[in-house]
Amino acid sequence: MGGGHNGLTAAAYLARAGRSVLVLEAADHLGGATVSARVFPGVDARLSRYSYLVSLMPRAVRDELGLDLRLRRRRVSSYTPLPQDPTRGLLVDTGDAAATEASFARIGAAGDVAGWRELGARTGELARALFPTVTGPLPTSDQARALLGPWWADLVEAPLGDLVERAVADDLVRGVVLTDALIGTFASARSASLIQNRCYLYHVIGGGTGDWDVPVGGMGAVVEALVGAASAAGAELAVRSRVTALHPGADGVEVVWSDDDGTEHRTAAAHVVAGCAPAVLDGLLGATPAEPGPEGAQLKVNMLLTRLPRLRDPDVDPADAFAGTFHVNEGYEQLERAYREAEAGELPTTPPSEIYCHTLTDPTILGPGLRGTGHHTLTLFGLHMPARLFREDPDGARARALEATLRSLDGVLAEPVEDCLALDADGRPCLEARSPVDLETDVGLPGGHIFHRDLAWPWLEDGAAARTAAERWGVATTHERVLLCGAGARRGGGVSGIPGRSAAMALLEG
Ligand SMILES: Cc1cc2nc3c(=O)[nH]c(=O)nc-3n(C[C@H](O)[C@H](O)[C@H](O)COP(=O)(O)OP(=O)(O)OC[C@H]3O[C@@H](n4cnc5c(N)ncnc54)[C@H](O)[C@@H]3O)c2cc1C
Repeated sequence: MGGGHNGLTAAAYLARAGRSVLVLEAADHLGGATVSARVFPGVDARLSRYSYLVSLMPRAVRDELGLDLRLRRRRVSSYTPLPQDPTRGLLVDTGDAAATEASFARIGAAGDVAGWRELGARTGELARALFPTVTGPLPTSDQARALLGPWWADLVEAPLGDLVERAVADDLVRGVVLTDALIGTFASARSASLIQNRCYLYHVIGGGTGDWDVPVGGMGAVVEALVGAASAAGAELAVRSRVTALHPGADGVEVVWSDDDGTEHRTAAAHVVAGCAPAVLDGLLGATPAEPGPEGAQLKVNMLLTRLPRLRDPDVDPADAFAGTFHVNEGYEQLERAYREAEAGELPTTPPSEIYCHTLTDPTILGPGLRGTGHHTLTLFGLHMPARLFREDPDGARARALEATLRSLDGVLAEPVEDCLALDADGRPCLEARSPVDLETDVGLPGGHIFHRDLAWPWLEDGAAARTAAERWGVATTHERVLLCGAGARRGGGVSGIPGRSAAMALLEG
């Protein structure tokens, strides 16, 4: 159930292994949070509407399923204007060590070059040690401890803030490091739950390098490739088919689902592989969902521009600044302040966000009329915007959050981004904002949590022994014949196909 990219991955593996597979997807399209869409009326631009970069999809998934998927490396890693003086900023150009060093010096952080490089080398070691494990059964915590070496103390035993503050001294540089811990995760650098540490871990290990690449053709291309693999192997894919109840028994599961016109169907399945969030699955199984439920904390803004905005920093070309991750008001103290404000139920005064431009790396998502004309897509991911801020007045709160976010962005630009927006066929600016509450409605993500629930360590915790294949692969539920295959499984979260593959492996093994 669920035709998100993970459900499709599981379907492709299982169908290729000769199983009879029916995928039931509630929406009128496949892909879940991994989709491209023409968001603006009459405008020929296929935006990656929700997720946009790929890092965590193992080579094995692409090779084993024969996916025709091209990922392109971004030329620049990141650009971060100095909040107190946006006429200067830090440009991290992975291909040019000398330019990066000079940029550190320009913002007065020359002393952090060595610490930054050492942290980069260490995360590289972590990625190379841990990422190869994601295509096998879960390591035990002892095995993980041995693989992590000194990282174990840094990541598993103390809040990430300790490491960040030890590694680098400059507030801006610290902020750039910390953002990897906060994407899709509402936490402080010092949160005792260590959810920020787990988020950091997943953000730096992808592909064994931690690189975040642009899928050529947008996220829709990822899903099209998976749909092709699943269909070619014989899986039946049904959209507008919402599962409304699951009745597991000793020999199989009765699946109750309804189609577009409300007709109820009952299908007997040997197993159910569930790509929805665990909280949704609990409801379908008649269990009381755990409290508190998952909560997402991001504002997502999609834009189409007629030109890239000019920067206040005269030394950096906007085409370089926007080619990587453009950090806005993400200094270490700013991130902390925004977290505290949101935790107290307030909209952050200066919302931190990061921006990506797909079309600088891959213009193919633009129609011929827009390509080569200076038009660019921008996608903004605003941090520390928890669902609780949007519950009471979803439309009003979204408008206020968007206004504050654009104000924050405009503070580091030489011209308001609004002046660069293209217009749609109705003369409206090409700008779409989605809060966590919108994502709950539009994509079925409970609380708008982009990972279905907070990320778990990618190993068996606390010396737990795995008794079943599903437990060994991190996809177990309370019912033997129901397996998780979505982002809420262990090693889920992100566009990876890992839980989809794990569920298929567990089912074929068990
Ligand atoms: C705004 C945003 C930005 C993100 N950015 C990135 C990024 O750049 N890179 C990255 O790696 N990750 C990113 N993520 C996270 C990533 O997109 C998700 O973790 C991933 O898409 C989850 O895939 P999935 O297949 O497990 O679940 P989903 O994509 O959530 O799919 C689940 C599917 O199940 C269906 N479903 C639910 N209930 C039922 C039911 N009762 N019956 C039938 N079907 C049902 C849903 O309709 C949906 O299609 C982002 C997510 C969001 C929302």
